Amino acid sequence: RTATTGGPESSMLTSFADLLARRPGETAVGAFTCYDLETASATLRAAAAAAAGVILLIGGRTFAEPGGATLLAALVAAADRAEAPCCVQLDHCDDEALIEAALRAGAGAVLADGSAFPYERNVEFVARAVAHASTHGAAVEAELGGISGDEDVAQAVAAGALTDPAQAVELIAQSGADCLAVSIGNVHGIYRDPPTLDWERLGAIRAGVAAPLSLHGASGIPDAMVRRAISAGVAKINVNTELRQAYLAATEQTIGSVLAGSRLNALHAAQVVAVEQVVAAKLRAFDVRATA
Ligand code: 13P
Repeated sequence: RTATTGGPESSMLTSFADLLARRPGETAVGAFTCYDLETASATLRAAAAAAAGVILLIGGRTFAEPGGATLLAALVAAADRAEAPCCVQLDHCDDEALIEAALRAGAGAVLADGSAFPYERNVEFVARAVAHASTHGAAVEAELGGISGDEDVAQAVAAGALTDPAQAVELIAQSGADCLAVSIGNVHGIYRDPPTLDWERLGAIRAGVAAPLSLHGASGIPDAMVRRAISAGVAKINVNTELRQAYLAATEQTIGSVLAGSRLNALHAAQVVAVEQVVAAKLRAFDVRATA
C-alpha cells in the first residue's frame, strides 16, 4: 500500500521501495529493531516529530518465537496508524518458511540473509524470497559478506568477511533483490576496536550496484562516519543495540518506584521516552543536509 494523506482512513504504510527512494545521497532511512510495542511506538513518535520515514524491524529470532507472528501483525497495525511513512521488515532470516510466514503476516520487506551460505546457495535463496515477496508486493534485502556479531546480544566482535564488489553486482542481477546489506567493517552489537569502514569498497559496490545499499550495525558508529556513508550512497541504516541499551537503562532507573506502586504504565512510559530520544538523535544524524 502506498502512503495516502487526508482523512481519518489514510494510512502511512509505505512500500520499502518508496521509502528508500527518498532523497538518495542526502538522507538514509532509519530501520530500528522492535521487540515490543514500546520500541515501536517510540520509533514512530520520533519519526513523526522529525517527519521522517522509518522502517520497523522485527528480528528473525523474535519472529520465530511464540507470539512472533502476532508481534509482526501488531507492528503493521502500529505502522498503519503512524503519522510518518513507514514499513515493517523481517530482519535477518535464513529460513524460507519463516520468510513466507512473515510476508503472509504483512511484512512489507524481508532480509533474506543467505550470507552464511555458499555464494550460489545465497543467490538461489534470495531469488526464491524475491519470488515469494513479489506475490505480496513486498521487497527483499540480501546480504553478501558476513556482518558479524549477534543481532540480539551486545558482544564485542571484530568485522566479518567483507562484501566483494563484483560478486555484489552478480548477486543483485541474478537474484533480483531490492536492496543489499554491505559488510565493510560494520558489525552488530559492540565494536571491539573503534569502527573503521572500507570507503573504497563501499565506493566500488555503489558504482556497480544500482539497488539501494544498507548499513547494518550502526550502533557505535560515530555520526560523522554514518553521514559519510550516506553521502557515499547508503540508503538505509539499521540500529538496534543503542535502543536496547536505552530501554534497559530506563528500566533499571525506574524499576524501584514502579515496583513500589506496581505502576506498569510508568515503566512503559519511561522505556518509550528513552528509546524515542535515541531514535530522534539517529534520525537527525541520518539527514545529511540538516547536519552538514
Ligand atoms: P546494532 O545492534 O549494532 O545497532 O545493529 C543493528 C542491526 O544491524 C540490525 O540488523
